[in-house]
Amino acid sequence: MNFLSLIEAKRDGQALDGAQIKEAISAYTAGKILDYQMAAFLMAVYFRGLNRAETRALMLAMRDSGDVLRFPDDPRALVDKHSTGGVGDKVSLPLAPLLACLGFRVPMISGRGLGITGGTLDKLDSIPGFQSLPPTEFITEIVQSVGCVICGQTARMVPADKGLYALRDATATVPSIPLIVASILSKKLAEGLNALVLDVKFGAAAFMPTLDKARDLAQTLVALSNECGVNARALLTNMQIPLGRAAGNWLEVKESVLCLEGRGPDDLRDLVLACAAHLLVQTGKAKTLDIARPQAEDCLASGRPREKWDEMLAAQGADLAAFKRKLALDHTAPVVVELKAQASGFVSRCDARIFGEIVRDLGGGRFTMESGINYDVGVDAIAKPGEAIHAGGLLARVHAADRAQVEVACARLRTAFGISAQPAVAEPLIAEIIELPK
Ligand code: URA
Repeated sequence: MNFLSLIEAKRDGQALDGAQIKEAISAYTAGKILDYQMAAFLMAVYFRGLNRAETRALMLAMRDSGDVLRFPDDPRALVDKHSTGGVGDKVSLPLAPLLACLGFRVPMISGRGLGITGGTLDKLDSIPGFQSLPPTEFITEIVQSVGCVICGQTARMVPADKGLYALRDATATVPSIPLIVASILSKKLAEGLNALVLDVKFGAAAFMPTLDKARDLAQTLVALSNECGVNARALLTNMQIPLGRAAGNWLEVKESVLCLEGRGPDDLRDLVLACAAHLLVQTGKAKTLDIARPQAEDCLASGRPREKWDEMLAAQGADLAAFKRKLALDHTAPVVVELKAQASGFVSRCDARIFGEIVRDLGGGRFTMESGINYDVGVDAIAKPGEAIHAGGLLARVHAADRAQVEVACARLRTAFGISAQPAVAEPLIAEIIELPK
C-alpha cells in the first residue's frame, strides 16, 4: 500500500475512508509499515483529528488485528468496567466478583500502570501465585465457570494497540481523543461485551485534567461503543484526591479485600456500587438506579463476592493460604513511617498527583513499560479532605524499601496535604453521568 499518500492526506486535513484505515492497520500489524512512517501519521492525526467514521474504522481495524473472545450462549450478560486511570483506583478488584455474584459474566482484560497511575495487573501480581496472563482459552473457561476473570491482554489480542501505544508514548501523541478512544474501545470490543461502564477521571492525577475534557472523551467513548452494539455509559469521576486510603500495589489489594468484607473506605465502596448499579440498569436487570443500588448493596453485604474473589484467585493460580498469611501482616515493606500533622484543623487538600509521584518514585510504579515494580511500597491510612485532625494526628503512613527513601517520601508527602481551620466543602466523587440521549 502507499502509506505515504495517507500521511499526506491526513497532514492536509483530509478524511480517510474506512478501507484505507483498515488496510493501514493490517499492514502495520504485519510489520509492513515502518515505525517512523506510522509515527508521522500519528502526529498528523494528533493535529488534524479523526472524524467519527474514521475513529470507528480505526477502532474496528485495531480490534480485528488479533483474537476476539468468543463465549458460548448463556443467559448471563457479558459486562465490564474500564477506568481511564487514577491514583488508588482499585475499583476493578472488588467490582469483578460483585458483578459475577449479581449474575453477570465479567471478562475483565486489564492493563499495567504507567507513570503515576496504578495498573490493575500490577496490583494482582502482588498476590502469591496469581497468574495475570492466562492463555485466551483459559480466559473464556474461567469466565464461564467462575463468572469473572481479571487478566492481561494476551499477545494475540489487539496486537495493533500494543505497537501503536508504544509509538504514541514515544512520540508525544498519547493525548488525542480519537487515538485514545480507538485504543480503549478496540480492547473492550475484543471482549465481546454486551455492556460497559466507563469511569472517566478528571483532575490533578488524571489523564484528562478538566471536567470539560473528560466529558468530551466520555461522549465519544459512549457514542462509539453504543454504535458498535455495546451498551455503554460513562461516569465522570473526581481524581483530585486518591480513591480510598491506600495507594501502592499490595496495599490496594488489602484495601480491596476490606471493601469486599464491608470494612473498606466509603468512596471506594460508593464507586464500586455505582458501577454495579449502572450495569444492572444498562442490561435491563433493574429498571432504575434506585432499584439497582440496593440490589448491589445487598449482594456486597451478603459476603458472596468475598468468596467469589477467592474462587477467582484460585482459578488463576493463587496460593490462597499464602495470600491469607500475607493479608494478616500489617505491612510487607521493610520500613514504615507515620506522617503526623503539625497543626490541628481539617484536612483541606490531599493532592492525588503528589501521591502518585511518591508511589512511583518509591518503586511502586513505572517510568517505562520495561521497569520492574516493588509491590510492597506505597502510602496507606491516608487522611481525606473534610476530616478533622489534631496536631500529632496521623496524616498517612509511608511504606518504603529503606530509610533514605522514606525520608524523601515523607518530606514530599507533607506538601500533598493542606490543613484549614474550617472544613472544606467536599466535591462529589461522581460529577456527571454520560449516556446516550433517550
Ligand atoms: N488507555 C488506553 O488503553 N489507551 C490510551 O490511549 C489511553 C489510555
